[in-house]
Amino acid sequence: MLELSTSVQYVKGIGPRLAEVLGAKGIHTVDDLLHYLPFRYEDRLNPRGISELRVGEMATVIAEVRTSGLFRTRRMPIFQMTAGQGRNRLKCIWFNATYLRDRFKPGQLVALYGKVEEERGGGELQLVQPQFEILGDSSDEAEAGEQKAASSLEVGRIVPIYESTGQGRLTPRWFRRVIHGLLENLSPQLSDPVPAAVRRHLSLISPQDALRQVHWPDPGESFKDLQASRTPAHIRLIFEELFFLELGLELKRRQQKAQTGIAFSLDNRAREAIKKILPFHPTAAQKRVLKEIASDMGKPVPMRRLLQGDVGSGKTIVAFEAAIIAMESGHQVALMAPTEILAQQHYFSARRILENAGYRIVLLTGSVEEDRKREIRRHIAQGNAQLVIGTHALIEQKVEFAKLGLVIVDEQHRFGVMQRFKLMKKSGDEGSGNGHVGPAVPSRSAEGSSAALGEPDVLVMTATPIPRTLALTLYGDLDISILDEMPPGRTPIVTRRVSDDRADEVWQFVGKQVAAGHQAYVVYPVIEENEENELKAALKMHKELSKKIFPGLRVDLLHGRMGADQKEDVMRRFQKGEVDILVSTTVIEVGVDVANATVMVIEHAERFGLAQLHQLRGRIGRGAAKSFCILMTGGKISEDGERRLDAMVRTTDGFQIAELDLELRGPGEFFGTRQAGMPSFQVANLIRDRQLLEAAKREAAAVLAGPNQEVSKEEIDRALRHMRTHWQKTYGLVEVG
Ligand code: ADP
Ligand code: MG
Repeated sequence: MLELSTSVQYVKGIGPRLAEVLGAKGIHTVDDLLHYLPFRYEDRLNPRGISELRVGEMATVIAEVRTSGLFRTRRMPIFQMTAGQGRNRLKCIWFNATYLRDRFKPGQLVALYGKVEEERGGGELQLVQPQFEILGDSSDEAEAGEQKAASSLEVGRIVPIYESTGQGRLTPRWFRRVIHGLLENLSPQLSDPVPAAVRRHLSLISPQDALRQVHWPDPGESFKDLQASRTPAHIRLIFEELFFLELGLELKRRQQKAQTGIAFSLDNRAREAIKKILPFHPTAAQKRVLKEIASDMGKPVPMRRLLQGDVGSGKTIVAFEAAIIAMESGHQVALMAPTEILAQQHYFSARRILENAGYRIVLLTGSVEEDRKREIRRHIAQGNAQLVIGTHALIEQKVEFAKLGLVIVDEQHRFGVMQRFKLMKKSGDEGSGNGHVGPAVPSRSAEGSSAALGEPDVLVMTATPIPRTLALTLYGDLDISILDEMPPGRTPIVTRRVSDDRADEVWQFVGKQVAAGHQAYVVYPVIEENEENELKAALKMHKELSKKIFPGLRVDLLHGRMGADQKEDVMRRFQKGEVDILVSTTVIEVGVDVANATVMVIEHAERFGLAQLHQLRGRIGRGAAKSFCILMTGGKISEDGERRLDAMVRTTDGFQIAELDLELRGPGEFFGTRQAGMPSFQVANLIRDRQLLEAAKREAAAVLAGPNQEVSKEEIDRALRHMRTHWQKTYGLVEVG
């Protein structure tokens, strides 16, 4: 009997070699293999008769090969195969498919799946580029016996279609046979890690039934539900995966809440201090959010809060207000930014806004000289520095604080769950707390008597408007505050797309804006040109723009390969208005705040992700003057590219853009980088399964509220044990709870 934990190597039909191929796909155990679900199904129980096909439908047809051959047209070779059922015939064509030349033999039975189209002119129906499987081949003696035995898996039923893998070696048919055999040898009683009450609430079927039916659906199963992953079997497997994720997150939340934090005093002094520094009237949203943060800070439980607010919604000032509360209580604050430029910028505004009030602020970035760094660290360790601003890397690693009370992490969207888990692990290693989920908290000095002090509060800020489903997963362990209102006096940004053969007009327009006293960004997808792609590059275009197009203007350059002080210098001059046009790569994507910049030209806009375009556009429209975002396109635009550009022109609402982005890219790619570390799900899909995710979250919270009449202690323990191994698998060696 095979257990779920058995290595796939011992499954019939797989040996060490194939096990390795599967391993590369993340399939190591029987359990993993059983969770390699079909991505679609074919109804070979009721395949379509050729005479019943209708134009435009996706159809499965089982028919016999009659003739086949390669035709050369002027444009490309086309492979054509005619299949027949009795007197009816169906033409199938594949473009550029010389590799099919010897594939079909007359008399073979084939299953074809594809879109039914009308032949141009002739009016006859045909399948264009259908997927196919050769089912039986009586002419092939050697294979005949085996074919017969296996053929019951290929026809006369609803057949699962798996994605091929291992360079095509592991075909759908291979998976069918192996998984079918596997299910027959699986121990019939799998213990169910989901508590009975939860099973009841969602009417979940047993794990073994789910696994069987998801691969080999019962004949009566709704074909539509199968394709939509909405059969009881699918729901069971998807829910289970989401439930254990949420159970882990809920457990984290509870552990955090159980830690001792710092109860900052929210007396009049803090209130007065905040009032004194405010350079403007806060928006209603800023007031509400500050209240939520202050209320957390007043409690003796560590704050773990996410502040979500679209670009330009005014998060910085809220962060400074929170910092004042901590500093007025005699604590230190760490403000961490993802880039040096941003840390720098926060430092400037902090000095502008906070220094007059007497707060002592230091900047700690990589470009600070070593001697100076040492001195700054000493100030921090002795408690002289009250507000420490720097890049994450710097503050996390080497800094000891005398009395750290609040950690603010800006632009948290750059750091996905996985990364946060890793950081958390690290801070666990260093013995600073027992591994809460959340950004690593800088360590405190030993004399800081950390037990008496309590865990510092953590506020993370992000400009990425995260769709609710994702927020539940990515930030399931945090409380969320939302800034959903823009500061007053902003004129909406006008966004236009133009093809780059009209670049002259664009540059003319930029020139006019500069003449009117404004500044402009021009963004390129790459720093340098290279032969493979024909993208315009920042370096070359900087030359062109400064020498040829705008010889009279001050055009400068900013990109990621420049040294830190060089970058800093350019940014400072742009900020001061000493640069008219800043040619850049996406290094300016995050956080940069120059209100006088009113034009953003993005070349090859079709190449950028939606979130990225939105972030870039967020650099303008920050003052009272009207701002313009010009999306220049050059080259071929994909269908998704069209939708991205279209969305950008249509709306500036970050939430709408985020929803569409999620839809276009899928959760894994949502944050633009794979390192962002979304949990990768085996069966769940956060867009499709958002309702199940909500249910999972609810049920997980209810279970951890037990034991009670609904759920016993044994059930909770079993679920937690299962959760830990599941997390181990998904998140590596991170310890949870
Ligand atoms: P983000 O949320 O993207 O970090 P910032 O904090 O940089 O946004 O704020 C964007 C701009 O709006 C800044 O120039 C800031 O000074 C300004 N701002 C923030 N809040 C207000 C307000 N209540 N009234 C007027 N301007 C504001
Ligand atoms: Mg910001």
